[in-house]
Amino acid sequence: MNLSKRLSSLPPYLFVEINRKIAEKRARGEEIISFAIGDPDMPTPDHILDSLCQAARIADNHRYPETAGLDELRQAICTWYKKRFNVELDPQKEVVPLIGSKEGIGHMAFCLIDEGDIALVPDPGYPVYGVGTILAGGSVYPMPLLEENRFLPDLDSIPEDILEKTKVIWLNYPNNPTGAKADIGFFNRVAEFAGKHNIAVCHDNPYSEIYFEGDPPASFLRATGAKDTGVEFHSLSKSYNMTGWRIGMAVGNEKLIKALSTLKSNLDSGIPQAIQQCAITALESDPTVIAKNNDVYRKRRDLIIDVLRDIGLEVQAPQASLYIWARTPKDYSSVEFATSLLEQCGVAVTPGVGYGVYGEGFVRFSLTTHDASLVKGLSKLSTWKDYKNPFKSKK
Ligand SMILES: *Cc1c(COP(=O)(O)O)cnc(C)c1O
Repeated sequence: MNLSKRLSSLPPYLFVEINRKIAEKRARGEEIISFAIGDPDMPTPDHILDSLCQAARIADNHRYPETAGLDELRQAICTWYKKRFNVELDPQKEVVPLIGSKEGIGHMAFCLIDEGDIALVPDPGYPVYGVGTILAGGSVYPMPLLEENRFLPDLDSIPEDILEKTKVIWLNYPNNPTGAKADIGFFNRVAEFAGKHNIAVCHDNPYSEIYFEGDPPASFLRATGAKDTGVEFHSLSKSYNMTGWRIGMAVGNEKLIKALSTLKSNLDSGIPQAIQQCAITALESDPTVIAKNNDVYRKRRDLIIDVLRDIGLEVQAPQASLYIWARTPKDYSSVEFATSLLEQCGVAVTPGVGYGVYGEGFVRFSLTTHDASLVKGLSKLSTWKDYKNPFKSKK
C-alpha cells in the first residue's frame, strides 16, 4: 500500500530527536519543566463552562449542527468585532465559525490553491500555512521575518515572477513565534500590495487579546480596502483558555468566506452546538476575564526575561502574544541550545528552526507554564553554563 504523494511531500517533523530525549529523561524519573507548549494552562472561566453544561442538556443541541453555525453565534461574533475593533461585518455573508482556527487555515488553502500556485508564507511561522499549501498541491514562497525589520516581511523584495503565480499571502500579528506586533500602517501597505497584485490576504489573529502594554493589537480588517481581498482568522482558544473546545472563526471578504463555507459543508458538519453556545457566552464576557489572564502572562514574561538576561541571552520583551523569542548564545544553533538547556538544566524549549530556516538562531519560550512549575523551571534555567564561551562575562 502506498500513501499519497501529497502526504509524503510534507516536511519532516524536526523535533523527533529532542522529544525522544525528553521522554527518555522523564521515563528515568528526571523532572523536565517545559516552556515549549503554546497552550494556556489556566482553565476555561467558570461562567463559560456553566453555559456549556446547560447547553449540553438541551436536546436540540444533540443533533447535527449546520456549517454556517447558529445565527446567534454569527451575530455575537459581529458584535464582538464591532466592539473590539470597530469593524462592521455582515453576519450572513462575512462570517463562518470554525472547528478551531487551525481547521479553517488548513482548509482555506484548498479554496485558493491549485497545482503550480504559490502562497507567501512567513518564515519563521506557524506551520499550518505552509502545510495547507503543500497538501493543496501548491508551493510555498517563504517571506523572511527578520529582527532588523521588526519581524515584518519585506513585501518589496518579492520577485515579480513569484507574484505572478501567487494566490495568497499569510500573515500573523501578534506573531507566533516572534512575539512581534504589526500596526495599521503595515496592514494598509499589505492591503494595497494585495489589491495591486490580485492576491488574497489571510491574516491569522488568535493573539489579538493577549497583550501587555502599548496599543491593543489591530485587526487587519481595519486596513483600507481590507475586505476587498482579505479575511481574518480568529480563535477563542488563546483569549478564553478554550484550546480544548475547538472553536474559532473566519471573517471578512464575502467571496472567500463563501468558498470556505462551501468546502467545509462538504467535509465537516459544523461545531457542536453546545460549544457554539459557550462561545457566545465567552464573546459576551466582561473584558476583565482576559485582562486577568494577561496580568499573569505579563508577570511570567518579566520573570523569564530577567533570568534569560542573567544567563547572558539577548532578548526583547514581547508586547503581545504568548511567546518570548530569544537569540541563542554565540556559537549555538537553536537545536544545540535547546539540547543544552535540556541536558544541563532539565528545561525544554522550542528550537526556532522548527518554524522555518529563518527561525535559526532563536529559541521560543512560551508563557503558558503554570506558576509553580515556572518558578522551578526558572531556578533550573539560572544554572545554565555556557561551556562553549567560558570566558564570556555575564551581563
Ligand atoms: C494557536 C494558534 C492557532 C490555532 O488556534 P485554534 O483556534 O486552537 O486552532 C492558529 N494560529 C496560530 C499562530 C496559533 O498560534
